[in-house]
Amino acid sequence: MPDAFKTRDGSSWEPSYLTTIDGGTCIGCGRCYKVCSRGVMHLYGVDDEGKILGRSSGDDDDFDGELNRMIMVVDNAGACIGCSACSRVCPKNCQTHVEASALAA
Ligand code: SF4
Ligand code: SF4
Repeated sequence: MPDAFKTRDGSSWEPSYLTTIDGGTCIGCGRCYKVCSRGVMHLYGVDDEGKILGRSSGDDDDFDGELNRMIMVVDNAGACIGCSACSRVCPKNCQTHVEASALAA
């Protein structure tokens, strides 16, 4: 593990970064978004064939009637600090996290 990863008291800590969310399993509940302090993921609308229509504006956007459901999309992966808070609240186990040492390898 890289030496740079430590907690405040100097204990070793390995970030586990969110890399992807399975759009076929995600229910768009927003729990991960609420606990993330880094703006790593956002809600997107998809049509009935699973095609992404665009990022939700938060204003009951129906994407010109094409909206089938909302899913969470990792659209700012580089901002993730690997805290894993989002994985702890996900009810669908649809997130993929990768440990820092694996990414650095
Ligand atoms: S691991 Fe932490 S920083 Fe990264 S997306 Fe999840 S909640 Fe946000
Ligand atoms: S917590 Fe899980 S199911 Fe809910 S929006 Fe996030 S990734 Fe999707």
